[in-house]
Amino acid sequence: MEYSENLLRLGTETAFEVLARAQSLVAKGRDIINLGIGQPDFKTADHIVEAGVKALRDGHHGYTSANGILPLREAVSEDFLIRHNVNISPENIIIMPGGKPTMFFCILMFGAHNKEIMYPNPGFPIYESLINYTGAKPVPIKLKEELNFSFKADEVLERINDQTSLIIINSPGNPTGGVIPRKEIEKLVIGLEAYPNVTILSDEIYSRLLYGKQKHTSFLEFPSIRSRLIVLNGWSKTYAMTGWRLGYSVWPNRLLEYANRLCVNNHSCVNTASQFAGLAALKGTQNVVDEMLLEFDKRRNFIVNALNKIPGISCKEPSGAFYVFPNIKNTGLSSQKAQDDFLELSGVATIAGNSFGKMGEGFIRFSYANSLENIEEAMERITKLLLK
Ligand code: PLP
Repeated sequence: MEYSENLLRLGTETAFEVLARAQSLVAKGRDIINLGIGQPDFKTADHIVEAGVKALRDGHHGYTSANGILPLREAVSEDFLIRHNVNISPENIIIMPGGKPTMFFCILMFGAHNKEIMYPNPGFPIYESLINYTGAKPVPIKLKEELNFSFKADEVLERINDQTSLIIINSPGNPTGGVIPRKEIEKLVIGLEAYPNVTILSDEIYSRLLYGKQKHTSFLEFPSIRSRLIVLNGWSKTYAMTGWRLGYSVWPNRLLEYANRLCVNNHSCVNTASQFAGLAALKGTQNVVDEMLLEFDKRRNFIVNALNKIPGISCKEPSGAFYVFPNIKNTGLSSQKAQDDFLELSGVATIAGNSFGKMGEGFIRFSYANSLENIEEAMERITKLLLK
């Protein structure tokens, strides 16, 4: 069979493999606590579900325009104005089937053999996978534990060269929960003004999942880079809608036509009922998000404390998302061995740090999108295992 050799370079997202393994253990009667997969354990709010059902009952079962229904793009635009005081034309917004397609399209647009793409490491594994797929050189931006999994803007800027076509930033970040301080983002933006050929992809999918009094800094707040900025966001994490496959991205004028064409070539349009549900999510009460966040915050406090009491484990307090990324180097276990032992011997699904890139070795990701009781039980099981 003759197929493109690019395929051999395509990676994957271990979270889905661990999920399948955990499910097969459950099918065999094992009691598994899943702290692996990154999705809220809450149900999509009733008013959002009802809006999706109503859309179908009202006959919204056909295609929409490839970029999504106008009321939804207007609602996203309004949301930006309310949250960040920035004006984004609905024309620059494309509704996507989830967050991932934006990263796929964007990396396809900027990846080629003679190009370099910078991306967070440890980071969402699909960035590196897709960069490799295109043949571009992946250049990791190391997220440092001592900086609470952030970076220094200067260290990013000094690695830009003539080949750099794209820089990917993800804050709050997966798998670390780390948030890039506004001061570093400002420095980065000012530095990037000297590199007009570099495009920026800001993955802001966890923008609403921030703890304490923090306010999310969107790259859209900086006009100097707007003409070469793509912002990825969506409903999956904020509104517990991972299975609805609904996301959006903001594109600069010069890429809009290409992004639209990729949508037409790839998926035609997003599931219409999901789009109406997404509209209800943005227009309806935001208490559902606030309540989910309060619950996540309790679990975050609990899991950080509990992990820091386990011999050999130390855990920074993350500022966003629903992950903790503790250092397990003093347990003597590799990330992979810890993932396997925690699952097979203790019945706790987690994700090895190195599946988020080489720089995640020695760490493990726990998602605290599970009940406090289950998290408590998981911590007891892991403590027991490590004390053996
Ligand atoms: N970006 C990051 C950083 C993520 O962690 C995820 C999902 O885990 C996505 C994007 C993709 O989101 P979606 O499920 O909406 O495609």
